[in-house]
Amino acid sequence: MVDTISNSRLATLDRCPRKEYWRYRRKIEPIVERVPLTFGRLFHQACKAYYDQGRSVDAAHATWDTEATALPPDELRNTAKAYELLTAYDQQFRDEEWTDIAGETKFAIELQLADDLPPVVYRGIIDRVGTIGDGKLTFQEWKTTAAPWNFLPNPNHQLTGYAFAMTQLFGEPVLQARVTLFGMFKGSKDGRRKHKDGTSSSVLTRMLVLRTANELEDWRRSVASKVRVMNMYEDQDFWPGNDSCNMYGKCDYAELCGSPPEVQAYLIDTAYRPIKEQEWEVTDEVS
Ligand code: SF4
Repeated sequence: MVDTISNSRLATLDRCPRKEYWRYRRKIEPIVERVPLTFGRLFHQACKAYYDQGRSVDAAHATWDTEATALPPDELRNTAKAYELLTAYDQQFRDEEWTDIAGETKFAIELQLADDLPPVVYRGIIDRVGTIGDGKLTFQEWKTTAAPWNFLPNPNHQLTGYAFAMTQLFGEPVLQARVTLFGMFKGSKDGRRKHKDGTSSSVLTRMLVLRTANELEDWRRSVASKVRVMNMYEDQDFWPGNDSCNMYGKCDYAELCGSPPEVQAYLIDTAYRPIKEQEWEVTDEVS
């Protein structure tokens, strides 16, 4: 039976049950991490340093310099781009009325999703928890993306799930989030992107995202359904691939999917490694 879920696990199941199997049951990942993933992970560390050290863009740049030494050379995802985005963020938001309440918040809470299911642990990391302007609790999410126009704030199960978790953790409704999309554009300069008509716009997009109590309840029921489906795959010991998979070349597990069992075993030994799980303590409190 499934005992632990995360937004990433649920989103992977939505995309492809077999991918969920490789990533969350077999717990393997490619030895070579994809550059966009590495860039996004390091960029989050730099954003965290920015707030942890009193909105210091110097601290953000310094953290980037320390952490990004292993980033492979890349035309777009490189130190110049990280500096450009961090500096643009500082210029746009340094005077925002943001007050840190819990900073980066790593949570692992127990959820009783439905009467017919045993409790599951729901875990995740919220980029920043605080208040803004009106004093209401809110949270921030940061995303680096080459196509910000594809980002959907609603429906968005990650944001709804985080609102659900925060509501449980803080004991009060948390129904708003601020999402910042950091546009990864070739040719942008000083945080501005030129358009064909000669105008320009910021590489950053900030969204205020709202939720209702009904949407949180809908999230709970939807997650319960997904957990039942995952349990069914486990019972039948078979995780179907995505019928209309167009991920060959993009999915981390494409080579495994396209190979017979003996080749899969060889690939798992040579091109994949076990995923190191972080320690997560289940808690109802925010430290
Ligand atoms: S390659 Fe396609 S079918 Fe295979 S795990 Fe990835 S998304 Fe699923």
